[in-house]
Amino acid sequence: MQFIETRGNDGSKSQKVNFSEAILSPIASFGGIYVPEKLPKFGQKFLEKHLNSNYKELALDVLQSFDIDIEESTLIEALNRYDDFDDSKNPVPLSKIEDDCFVMELYHGPTRAFKDMALQPFGYILSKEAQKRNENYLIMAATSGDTGPATLETFKNQPNIQVACLYPDGGTSDVQRLQMVTEEADNEKVIGVVGNFDDTQNMLKELLASDDFNAELESRNIKLSAANSVNFGRIIFQIIYHIHAYLELLRKDEIKMGENIYLVVPSGNFGNVLGGYYAKKAGLPVEKLLVASNVNNILTDLIENGVYDMGSRELIKTESPAMDILKSSNVERVLFDKFGGARTKELMDSLNETGKYELTADECSSIQEDFEATFSEDDECEVFISKYAKEGYIMDPHTATCMKSYEKRISKNLKSVIYSTAEWTKFSTTVARALGSDKTENDTEALQWIAENTNEKVPAMIEGLFSKEIKHPIVVEKEQIKEEMLKFL
Ligand SMILES: *Cc1c(COP(=O)(O)O)cnc(C)c1O
Repeated sequence: MQFIETRGNDGSKSQKVNFSEAILSPIASFGGIYVPEKLPKFGQKFLEKHLNSNYKELALDVLQSFDIDIEESTLIEALNRYDDFDDSKNPVPLSKIEDDCFVMELYHGPTRAFKDMALQPFGYILSKEAQKRNENYLIMAATSGDTGPATLETFKNQPNIQVACLYPDGGTSDVQRLQMVTEEADNEKVIGVVGNFDDTQNMLKELLASDDFNAELESRNIKLSAANSVNFGRIIFQIIYHIHAYLELLRKDEIKMGENIYLVVPSGNFGNVLGGYYAKKAGLPVEKLLVASNVNNILTDLIENGVYDMGSRELIKTESPAMDILKSSNVERVLFDKFGGARTKELMDSLNETGKYELTADECSSIQEDFEATFSEDDECEVFISKYAKEGYIMDPHTATCMKSYEKRISKNLKSVIYSTAEWTKFSTTVARALGSDKTENDTEALQWIAENTNEKVPAMIEGLFSKEIKHPIVVEKEQIKEEMLKFL
């Protein structure tokens, strides 16, 4: 299958590219991104075929249905990365928290957040393709928390890939920072930056756009790639678990074949829910995709009113920091799918020039056929965390944003699947506060308090972080990033 561009073609790139090209060079003409030319079918026939499949068997068939130019042996090896998750047979367990509500836990991988679901297999494939072409790639990431650790983890010691990860010093949780600065791999560099996440991200953008940095890369024969969720190589792995969730409900006799369900997705960059959208479009019986946000509710506004307005907003720091996003990159893929390339370019140009775009009433209705949106304040999330903890289920603050969406859903007779995107251990100070503790100064005391006061255990990989050697102690001023990068390369 070929991949096409969301903003049309500028004549300098191919009209269509293979999967391998789309993942190695993910930016398309006019700053657009790549999407599959058409979708496979994941309807009843496909579901029936996989009633008895385990996760990896299902995943392989989903990937191969896209007919991508990656060898089967590479796909199998990539999927074997799931063997290191808590349960190799089922990396994404489903828990029942209400008669009609289930939580699919996407965080049982090495960094305890859902980014591993896609980044783990993706990292293997990207490195393999780079080796095949005898090319070297640099991946640079600015992270406020979860993307950094998952990116470092997947590429560590992988041939033909180097990773540099910038994080705002003091802007991540202790656990997130330790996951990054204790990572031991010759091909990876972690740099703390004095400033906040926006500063860090802006510096990275400047660096990537600067001519002399690019000349340096060229002289060292290094190409740039990206591992954020604009890369379709991540999205493809985020279609699989939505199908798996449906199959699990069938296997547990909770639904009948063909019965519609709700998918409730805590959203930031819109990659997770986009995977659900593609699954729905490919035939998975989904009533609606419920998009959950925190008070950075730009997606709620888009879906309810058809207005995407960054100019009138400031980013607000919340207790669900992975969803503190104003520029939600994957919305573009939905716009393209519904309204085509010319209109998508128009809307994206407007966003770049004025910070805003507006859909027509018809376009907005079209979005509402598939999506509904709700946002929650931090306080509301804490109430849900506390409520479910009393019933024996501990959820993290990102997952908690889903509960209001679930309560507000329109058809009360349909089952809902909520996606849990992080283990509570990554946001333990917030969880401890929600449970009424005053041990919320730092992760160490919050983790300990929760372990003592609930039935939860702190997993060894989290506990072990606090005694691991720091491999990347460096924290620099913004102006020094380039120099540090050149040393590393
Ligand atoms: C990345 C992330 C999200 C948001 O996912 P998107 O695919 O960007 O919408 C939500 N929760 C957690 C914990 C995350 O790490």
